[in-house]
Amino acid sequence: MRKQVSAIKGTKDILPREAKKWQSVESVTKRILELYSYKEIRTPVFEATELFEKGTGQTTDIVIKEMYTFQDKAGRSLTLRPEYTPSVVRSIIENRLYLKPEPLRFYYIGPMFRYDKPQKGRYRQFHQVDIEVFGEEDPAIDAEIVEMANYLLKELKVSYTETLVNSVGCKDCRPSYIKDLRSQAEEVRRVLCLDCQRKLKLNPLRIFDCKVETCREAAQAFPRITDYLCQDCEEHFSRFCDYLAFYSIKYKVEPRLVRGIDYYTKTTFEVVSSKLGAQNTLIGGGRYDDMMKEFGGPDLCGIGFAMGLERLISVVPFTEEKGKFLYLVYLGDESERAGMKAVHFLRREGVECLIEYKERSMKSQMSRANKLGAAWALIIGEEEVKKRKYKLKNMATGLQMEGTQEEILKIIRESP
Ligand SMILES: [Zn+2]
Ligand SMILES: [Zn+2]
Repeated sequence: MRKQVSAIKGTKDILPREAKKWQSVESVTKRILELYSYKEIRTPVFEATELFEKGTGQTTDIVIKEMYTFQDKAGRSLTLRPEYTPSVVRSIIENRLYLKPEPLRFYYIGPMFRYDKPQKGRYRQFHQVDIEVFGEEDPAIDAEIVEMANYLLKELKVSYTETLVNSVGCKDCRPSYIKDLRSQAEEVRRVLCLDCQRKLKLNPLRIFDCKVETCREAAQAFPRITDYLCQDCEEHFSRFCDYLAFYSIKYKVEPRLVRGIDYYTKTTFEVVSSKLGAQNTLIGGGRYDDMMKEFGGPDLCGIGFAMGLERLISVVPFTEEKGKFLYLVYLGDESERAGMKAVHFLRREGVECLIEYKERSMKSQMSRANKLGAAWALIIGEEEVKKRKYKLKNMATGLQMEGTQEEILKIIRESP
């Protein structure tokens, strides 16, 4: 027996019926993002490994454990992108987009890759919608992004969501927080999981990302970053909250919301679903004011969010719209020719048509049209070819009409 090749663990096929749902989510998403004047930017799926080491951060789980890193044939270390932001930053610098008059507002929809433990709803190739804005310092943009995230979910008919916000401070105020956090976490070291004990040394903020129950409990008693903000960060955060109120967005300040990535400064936020369990984040994002500069670019602040499509699609309600298509029923070479011509004409007029090039009886073709859910059957036999008038059957009502291809188009167009 020949050996069957299977899909790689942690990947999955999106089959046509499900792909319809993806298309509909993607098209709503694009429409909304473009309403806010975001433009699509497409960067390569793989990049130099150092881009993510530097951008995403050496101490993050993503970089330590989850990257798809490999050597190409020239011995370069490459990585399949685990997230999108570093690629956009690289592209802006490389293409000098910051020198152009257009605002730096970008979106992207596509696959990301993380060597994560495969579990329900989590894949090693997963898909994200990602948006980024650069050069806007005012917290009004932070609020506009949160407002857009909420509007997007509303347009996708996702209900039962909650908006969580926080500020993670800046390079001036965070160090003293980290110091206190580390010393308090040190005191309860023994109840922390091994992973968190390691984080304690590298980056204690990451303890807040841990899903282990004892770690979560211990983290409840840790100091809150919001008590350590410098005046600038404090003001930014309170103005951000005012703008949220301006948009009538209900939100909750969640001081433990630090997000699993190193580059965040000031604002972080999540929109979560109360319908999902522990992994309930639908949209997560924040500000990264130092990243562009650290990559050797101009001193431009940035903010953005990512939305995981697999999880989102699991909560988006979807009613499958039956495609309205015409199925050609024919017999013999001449009718096939006539049918091909009629179908060629109808397709150019925007009617979806299906011809299958197999010899079958009229009766079995009719039952196939029925089984596939065709809205119409166009029936062309010898007699119809002679008359140049074809039969059109409405599959729902059973009603049959006759006409030239132009007349048939008219009937199709005029039917509800
Ligand atoms: Zn600060
Ligand atoms: Zn832990």
